[in-house]
Amino acid sequence: MAVAETIFLPFHRASIDEAEIQNVVQVLKNGWLTSGPRVKEFETAFARYIGSPHAQAVNSCTSALHLALAVSGVAEGDEVLIPTMTFAATGETVLYLKARPVLVDCSPDSFHIDIREMEKSVTSRTRAIVPVHYAGYPCDMDPILELAACRGITVIEDAAHAFPASYKGRMIGTVGHLTCFSFYATKTLTTGEGGMITTANQEYAERLRILALHGISRDAWNRYTAQGSWRYDILETGYKYNLTDLQAALGLAQLQKAEELRQRRAAIAAQYSRALASIEAFLPPPEPNDGTHAWHLYVIRTNPAALRIGRDQVIDELKSRGIGSSVHFIPLHLHTLYQRHLGYRTGQFPRAEQHFEQCISLPLFPAMSDEDVARVISALKDISVAFRK
Ligand SMILES: *Cc1c(COP(=O)(O)O)cnc(C)c1O
Repeated sequence: MAVAETIFLPFHRASIDEAEIQNVVQVLKNGWLTSGPRVKEFETAFARYIGSPHAQAVNSCTSALHLALAVSGVAEGDEVLIPTMTFAATGETVLYLKARPVLVDCSPDSFHIDIREMEKSVTSRTRAIVPVHYAGYPCDMDPILELAACRGITVIEDAAHAFPASYKGRMIGTVGHLTCFSFYATKTLTTGEGGMITTANQEYAERLRILALHGISRDAWNRYTAQGSWRYDILETGYKYNLTDLQAALGLAQLQKAEELRQRRAAIAAQYSRALASIEAFLPPPEPNDGTHAWHLYVIRTNPAALRIGRDQVIDELKSRGIGSSVHFIPLHLHTLYQRHLGYRTGQFPRAEQHFEQCISLPLFPAMSDEDVARVISALKDISVAFRK
């Protein structure tokens, strides 16, 4: 006997409708399953949506970051500045190239990479900076671009959370030198697995296309079409990072409703923020003054001054009320790889550690009903009363 109250509200559910299903079925019927015309179409549509001259589809944001770092010339011995408050992918891709991820603490007010700390971490070996638009709220890019410009550093944005988002009227994807998007299952636009790199730099764009598919010359791309030829040339060591037409078909349908989905996310976030204004136990996330938030995540923090229990227990209390939640992220410097092999230690980035200790990502997906949102709010109120300090 399923009662509405007892149905588990997941942290995330993808918005897949008939349009996505029909698009994928069409690809299956056409018989061209891997990278082909639908990928081209998706790249063109995505580039147009963002307003970027070039978009290169790849099979994940991790691949996107790897290739963006590679075309920026990041190589052995170089340093790349990244926030410690990020996902594994932002750091591991630097390690793929035998460069060093130089971790930077959060800013006090936004949980983005801190510009002052970043300035202190720049050395003559710094080759790139990878700011992460945490939760979908764009970083303050102007000071980052300025710092990079004086030193010939490349700015690669990890925009895995930031589609669609804008900074000072510019779409994310047109601001830094290269921008990497994720279409992973839980992200704001999904192809199951997938990614995209946008850039205004034609040389980067050409090299990205070659690296994304075995280092093979561009002409070989459509060697199986009527106009194509069997001839190809391997120009350099490349990767098998191509997106497929099946995935692009999903992406094209998702792109059609991207703004509608963003608006629903923003409306849910606004409901959360209104409610949290009167719940002392939990602090709402910061909101941008100068841009559009993609609202990939709605991250609250526990307020230790008003709550007896910590983050982990709040997550358990939410779960016992049938509500899923998550934590973004365990800072990189707290992980074994970073401590054992890169010399980082606990206590080194106090703001990121404090954020990690307090943060909870609430359910936020367009298919949530107003009743679902009310249920989460009511659970938070409940917990705040039951465990008041
Ligand atoms: C999800 C995520 C990625 C990786 O995306 P994939 O498409 O799964 O490779 C990179 N960076 C951040 C901040 C992410 O949240």
